[in-house]
Amino acid sequence: IPSDITVSPMPISMGEGALIAFADGSGIEQAGQMRRDFVANVSHELRTPLTALIGFIETLRGPARDDTAARERFLTIMETEAGRMNRLVGDLLSLSRVEAEERRRPTGKVDLNALLQGVADTLDRAAQAGGVRIEMTLPSQPVQVVGESDQLVQVFQNLVENAVKYGGSGGWVGITLDHVAHEPRLRGPGWSVTIQDRGEGIEALHLPRLTERFYRVDAHRSRNQGGTGLGLAIVKHIVNRHRGLLKIDSKKGQGSTFTVILPERHHGA
Ligand code: ADP
Repeated sequence: IPSDITVSPMPISMGEGALIAFADGSGIEQAGQMRRDFVANVSHELRTPLTALIGFIETLRGPARDDTAARERFLTIMETEAGRMNRLVGDLLSLSRVEAEERRRPTGKVDLNALLQGVADTLDRAAQAGGVRIEMTLPSQPVQVVGESDQLVQVFQNLVENAVKYGGSGGWVGITLDHVAHEPRLRGPGWSVTIQDRGEGIEALHLPRLTERFYRVDAHRSRNQGGTGLGLAIVKHIVNRHRGLLKIDSKKGQGSTFTVILPERHHGA
């Protein structure tokens, strides 16, 4: 077993107007099954907080009606549950938007240094409150890539948030922007953004499935920390849209490294 497990990247270029052919119908069957699983997952994820809300409404109407302290406590829980539903619906909308746009290439120009600095600034206070120091290593010259700024913010915010959330026990999260002279799978040079933590890491068996919708290593923990299980699925689609690569390296007990490599130049751009 290799010491570092690298999950092979997602297919990077489908080409405009790529045609997906189902020769034997099994692909259609598989797509149908995936859709059914997705709907079942969404329903389950929404029902859990909804059931809690309904239960607390009944309690507030009945037994807890005259108990001010209990009422306050229940309202706080209800707020948390409603927030969870809100985040889930927000992530579902994000996911469907990025999926719809995946074939359309981004056209904007993005200053990666500034974008990463912004992400770190946004998350720094919460990280520090949790005892995590965010360390940035950026090149001195400005770095520009073709991309959609809002979506790239979403990518790096998700990865840094995860590193703080799940890898925060190491007390440190590193964000590094580096030039890659030649990335074979991008057939050219690129810029890599590495988000590293020294937390507990992820067991190898989970790595290939991490970017699946609703896949979590520890569902209970993810939910407790406000996770929807959709973050890395969204990241994957956005990186695909940018014709980039996502690599995940992790070693149980030592921490995780998530690397996004974006092409320096877009073919035909
Ligand atoms: P979630 O909303 O659960 O955080 P994500 O799609 O962002 O969903 O991540 C999927 C799962 O991957 C998480 O539930 C967690 O188990 C695992 N994970 C993601 N990032 C890390 C990390 N830096 N260290 C350890 N585990 C991680």
